[in-house]
Amino acid sequence: MNIESRLAQIGSQEDPKTGAVSFPIYHATAFRHPKLGQSTGFDYSRTKSPTRFVLEAAAAELEGGDAGFACSSGMAALTTIFALFSHGDHLIVSLDLYGGTYRLLERILSRYGISASYVDTNDIDELESQCTDRTKAVLIETPTNPLMMITDLEKVSAWAKRRGLLTIVDNTLLTPFLQRPLELGADIVIHSATKYLAGHNDVLAGLIVTKGKELSEQMAFLHNSLGAVLGPQDSWLLMRGMKTLALRMERHQYNSVKMAEWLKTHPAVDEVYHPGLPHHPGYDIQRRQSSGDTGIFSFRMKDARTIEPILRHLKLIAFAESLGGVESLLTYPAVQTHADIPEEIRRKVGVDDRLLRFSVGIEHIDDLIADLGGAIDAALKEIGEA
Ligand SMILES: *Cc1c(COP(=O)(O)O)cnc(C)c1O
Repeated sequence: MNIESRLAQIGSQEDPKTGAVSFPIYHATAFRHPKLGQSTGFDYSRTKSPTRFVLEAAAAELEGGDAGFACSSGMAALTTIFALFSHGDHLIVSLDLYGGTYRLLERILSRYGISASYVDTNDIDELESQCTDRTKAVLIETPTNPLMMITDLEKVSAWAKRRGLLTIVDNTLLTPFLQRPLELGADIVIHSATKYLAGHNDVLAGLIVTKGKELSEQMAFLHNSLGAVLGPQDSWLLMRGMKTLALRMERHQYNSVKMAEWLKTHPAVDEVYHPGLPHHPGYDIQRRQSSGDTGIFSFRMKDARTIEPILRHLKLIAFAESLGGVESLLTYPAVQTHADIPEEIRRKVGVDDRLLRFSVGIEHIDDLIADLGGAIDAALKEIGEA
């Protein structure tokens, strides 16, 4: 069955007793046992909960994995995954990393003796040079956020396999509708489901999908033991959002490419980073390993003085911190999402004071261009350049 159909049908055939097309929200935390030594499959809701279970099964199927785990946020999902590692273990991680993941590694996991090196994960020589006998995994974001760097997942997971390392992919920006890392050789996929999967800027959630029996059992143990699980109400909201994922991603892609092409020709814009534009260095790899582009891209203005007035003059597009929802959001990474990343690393990857990240929503493209165009014009006037 095609993924569009599977998405639309999430939870629709899972309640034969009533035939409910929308799966019910089970609030129960405890489940009656038929008799000693028997269980309905549900005992206590931290371990397994009916509404969450339908979501988890759907996530596993969509990503082509063996087991899914719904967590209370993307960070909860990452924390659960990192609990696979022990004191002394080392990880290799994408250089241009989500700020919260960097903070978790550097300010918390470092205290437990788990270290990380930050590299361009598309460069096998660099990966090789950072790999020690304590290295246990490589964590990849592709595209990265906000610079949209692309990593060849097949190439890197094959390298990791040879080295005996786990490949973990943060697939938040593309979702299984556009990219399925487990099919390209990865072992674990993590999502901030808060973003595209939920899609409406109204649910905080995370998902983990694992490949392989042993890894899936290990993750089930950690998910239950750490307890950062997703509640039934939010599990339902997430499934409801995922039903329209295909339609939303198609519009997000269309709008983001149009917007990026328009900005590329704008005289006040220095550079546009969008893997769907043919001049992008990751363009070919992205075409090969994904079936499309995300709705996120970033662009650098020529003059840093335009940033503050642009953000102030926007009317439709919100100046806000997040991505992946139906509403368009513009983010200033240097002071928002990436504030926890040291300036030295930020400069190395190119997150500077002229860079803006755009999460393009599903509004009409003409309205989005008119809004950003108007804000740029007003900003240029204010700084005396127009
Ligand atoms: C938002 C985000 C996270 C963290 O997820 P939360 O749901 O906010 O906890 C992790 N990775 C990426 C790529 C993200 O965009």
